[in-house]
Amino acid sequence: MECTRAAQVRIGNVNAVTRVPVRDDLSALEGYHSPQVDVSVRLNTNESPFAPPPAWRDAFAAELSRAQWQRYPDRAATALREGIAAVHGVSPQQVFAANGSNEVLQTLLLTFAGPGRTVATFEPTYQMHGQIARVTGATVVEGERAADFSLDMAEVHRVLREHLPSVTFLCSPNNPTGLVEPEANIREVLAAAPGLLVVDEAYGQFADWSALGLVDEETPLVVTRTFSKTWSMAGARLGYMVGPEWLVAELDKVVLPYHLDLAKQIAGRLALTFVHEMESRVQFIVGERQRLSAAMSALPIDVFPSGANFILFRPRNHGGRAVWQGLLDRDVLVRDCSGWPRLADCLRVTIGTEAENDLFLKALTEVTA
Ligand code: PMP
Repeated sequence: MECTRAAQVRIGNVNAVTRVPVRDDLSALEGYHSPQVDVSVRLNTNESPFAPPPAWRDAFAAELSRAQWQRYPDRAATALREGIAAVHGVSPQQVFAANGSNEVLQTLLLTFAGPGRTVATFEPTYQMHGQIARVTGATVVEGERAADFSLDMAEVHRVLREHLPSVTFLCSPNNPTGLVEPEANIREVLAAAPGLLVVDEAYGQFADWSALGLVDEETPLVVTRTFSKTWSMAGARLGYMVGPEWLVAELDKVVLPYHLDLAKQIAGRLALTFVHEMESRVQFIVGERQRLSAAMSALPIDVFPSGANFILFRPRNHGGRAVWQGLLDRDVLVRDCSGWPRLADCLRVTIGTEAENDLFLKALTEVTA
């Protein structure tokens, strides 16, 4: 008893003394939140509604049981990089893999952004682009999109000219709007950007074209991808980018040694041998996206065109927050974007299984009636 009491007192004192101030430039940061609620139909975080193929699970378990856990993993993740490179027809030296595409973005920003440098985003877009850039100490310049969320090229040129960003972000399909960036826009930004252009294609496989074909050794362009969506592996935390070899070599210097653990390297390498299963899941989701879009458009709702595995929408007759609550009351969770800047009254629904999508549509019809 005595001992425990003494320890508590000491811990109390230590806590009081050790609460030191965080970096001044971080104190205003709020962090990134995606609230989870226990519901039967969860359509709020753009994951795949399907588990990976059973044959992948078996192969993964078999390799794990033979793994040399006492050793550090392959630091260069050679086999995984080779597998990704083969899927895209590029060299393994053009591939950099990390713990989710978020860690890819972080490593890019640690290498090319940081204090004294500027990063450009075009809002609304994926919040982590600006968030991670700020954590590296960079200044973030937010350009505005047009009212329909397409890129306003005059605004893009203004931002690039006035702020000379070291890193410019585009996201295609864009999260949370779903818009696919036309190739002409990407080429125009690439020609005008003074630094690196990052095209975030976390949802790239759901769209009808990819900027991957624009990557080469002479162009300051990288395209990021993830295993979290189409590959049904959000739980594994694995993402990658394709870009020039010289750039990948710079990232390899910045990222922590052995950041990709043994299990993740195996999981990703094996997943790549199930590319046909992945493609049929993508096809199903694209079909369901079209069905949902059409059905939602028949309701009093503005539906934004999407090339992703989610749809952004704005109810016309009710506030977005009220519709979100109405759906939740019917056991359906979607992403509430209604309080986000530039997205008043907007909600975002992830495409689920056929049954989940039916339940969502039924609830949405009732709530917006
Ligand atoms: N980019 C975009 C546009 C995203 O929506 C997400 C996931 N929400 C990510 C990157 C990060 O994905 P992950 O870290 O799971 O690969």
